[in-house]
Amino acid sequence: MSERAAPFYCPYCGEEHLRPHEEDGTWACGDCLRVFRLRFLGVGDARAAGRRTHEETFR
Ligand SMILES: [Zn+2]
Repeated sequence: MSERAAPFYCPYCGEEHLRPHEEDGTWACGDCLRVFRLRFLGVGDARAAGRRTHEETFR
């Protein structure tokens, strides 16, 4: 199974130097050295998507 989501930016420092870590779905940032897991949880409902969009406009 090669279907996996690749992050474009580190969620902690925003840099792009990510590389796969040991386990599937885990990534290591080459800049801040954080290791994190990226996991698909499912598809949210429309109201949840609306809330998320709303929050992102204030970032
Ligand atoms: Zn980082």
